[in-house]
Amino acid sequence: MDQKPAAGTSCLFCKIAAGAIPSKAVAIAPPELAKEVYAFEDIHPQAPSHILIIPRRHLASLNELGPSDAELVGKLVLAAQGIARERQFSERGYRLVLNTNAAAGQTVFHLHIHLLGGRNFTWPPG
Ligand code: 5GP
Ligand code: ZN
Repeated sequence: MDQKPAAGTSCLFCKIAAGAIPSKAVAIAPPELAKEVYAFEDIHPQAPSHILIIPRRHLASLNELGPSDAELVGKLVLAAQGIARERQFSERGYRLVLNTNAAAGQTVFHLHIHLLGGRNFTWPPG
């Protein structure tokens, strides 16, 4: 798989963020983060709530980020926290997963955080 597609061309999640491919959008909380962040339901949910949180800007993986992206990373994580609160599993607990490259199971090379909630999770992960 091409790990570095030109933004907005061959990348599945760029197309999803732009609305060119349909997805079930999840409201971003707090809403001011939505300028840079998009969230949508995973097509193959691994938990009662399985939401993907992505930057609108194309970044292939966590390995591409630099110091100037610190604020963006914070916004992605804050969006996850806000959605967990909206879905009312903040107190019970939830899991964020950020697979990076093949050995970790990354299959879509546009940075995304998995937000998983609504059940108990085991450790260590597979
Ligand atoms: P990764 O394995 O890269 O960490 O996660 C990619 C995730 O994207 C998987 O959980 C997979 O189910 C999800 N996914 C792949 N294609 C689509 C799609 O077209 N739409 C949605 N909503 N999710 C997708
Ligand atoms: Zn992309």
